[in-house]
Amino acid sequence: MKGGQKVDKPVIIIGAGLSGLHAASLLTKQGINCKILEARDRIGGRVLSLPVPDRPDLGRFDLGPTWFWPQYESRITELVEELGLETLVQNNDGDVLVERFQIKPPERCALQENMDERGVRLAGGIQSLIEALAAKIPAETIELETRVKKVRLDESGNITVEAEHADGKAESIQAQAVILALPPRLVARHIAFSPALPGDLLADIAEKPTWMGSQAKAVAVYDRPFWRESGLSGLVLSSVGPMQEIYDASPANGAGALFGFFGMPAEVREQMGQEKVLKLVADQLVKLFGSEAENPQAILYKDWAGDAETAVEEDASPFKNYKSYGQPPAAGVWEKKLVFAGTETNAAYSGHLEGALQSAEQAVSKISGLN
Ligand SMILES: Cc1cc2nc3c(=O)[nH]c(=O)nc-3n(C[C@H](O)[C@H](O)[C@H](O)COP(=O)(O)OP(=O)(O)OC[C@H]3O[C@@H](n4cnc5c(N)ncnc54)[C@H](O)[C@@H]3O)c2cc1C
Repeated sequence: MKGGQKVDKPVIIIGAGLSGLHAASLLTKQGINCKILEARDRIGGRVLSLPVPDRPDLGRFDLGPTWFWPQYESRITELVEELGLETLVQNNDGDVLVERFQIKPPERCALQENMDERGVRLAGGIQSLIEALAAKIPAETIELETRVKKVRLDESGNITVEAEHADGKAESIQAQAVILALPPRLVARHIAFSPALPGDLLADIAEKPTWMGSQAKAVAVYDRPFWRESGLSGLVLSSVGPMQEIYDASPANGAGALFGFFGMPAEVREQMGQEKVLKLVADQLVKLFGSEAENPQAILYKDWAGDAETAVEEDASPFKNYKSYGQPPAAGVWEKKLVFAGTETNAAYSGHLEGALQSAEQAVSKISGLN
């Protein structure tokens, strides 16, 4: 009780990725008390936009998501507009390089029209969206370095969330409901429930692959986008690797950047180690773009397969023909107490930023129905 007024138990949101933050901003707007518990020491989850160490003037570069597609994705498009964020359209102007054989130089060709579906980026990286959303939530709503380990439901229907802080201290929080805004496989693997979740639900979430959980990204940052001067778009398709798709990631400030997704499997990257992987990346860029590619300001790198707050071991293998993203089956005694959010639980836009937002909206409308 505060000043004679009853303070509601908070809705606990597990995870401060895009989904958890959007859920918190919507609940806050509706005057519903909420709290986000986040295991990492930062917000954003799979969203990660980093500067070159010692050269923040060059801008921030996306090591997680890069694009959204306004032609299909209305919610993120509206939100970006509402938050007044600056956008830039992906640069694909110029020729594409196609690398088919290790021992031959890449072929140069025009970009086919059906391949030119340009995504939209955010100036300052996708992290700008995360920061703008977080600014809409009271600062004390987000607790960093707080890893949820257990959720308990007692016979009277009271929910207790048990978490551990980075210094090992335990915390127990009473909740009116819990929004699980993290990859479903992490819920299955790392959070204990008492009473246990129904078997079919547990099997469903243990099976849902974490989107991009097998991927890594490298971003080579240069003083200028020199490839554009020779009519290249920066776009590369490679069957040689280690990067299999490369794109222009240059910011609008005149600096240049190329980012690549890996064809090299997660286990091989792990066995090889970061230093060797980055040597191969540097060699590939020189083979493709010539000697000007030799001296990047930095090559930024993030391997998501080795990130315990994103992926589990099974995510290291790229999944094939997985079809059942969306909400898990009914939660038994947990129904109306636990609500699933996170991009993997959205059927229409699963995997995408749009899916993270839409899953949060679904979760919040369920919670609002309980209030
Ligand atoms: C390399 C890469 C490229 C991508 N490219 C694109 C793109 O171009 N466009 C696009 O639309 N999407 C893209 N995506 C997907 C996009 O990043 C995701 O859809 C979105 O960020 C997911 O948000 P989320 O909130 O659902 O989950 P997450 O961002 O994974 O957030 C979950 C949060 O839960 C936290 N957490 C985990 N365990 C616990 C615990 N026990 N206790 C407390 N907190 C915990 C995590 O630390 C994390 O902050 C990409 C992803 C990657 C990795």
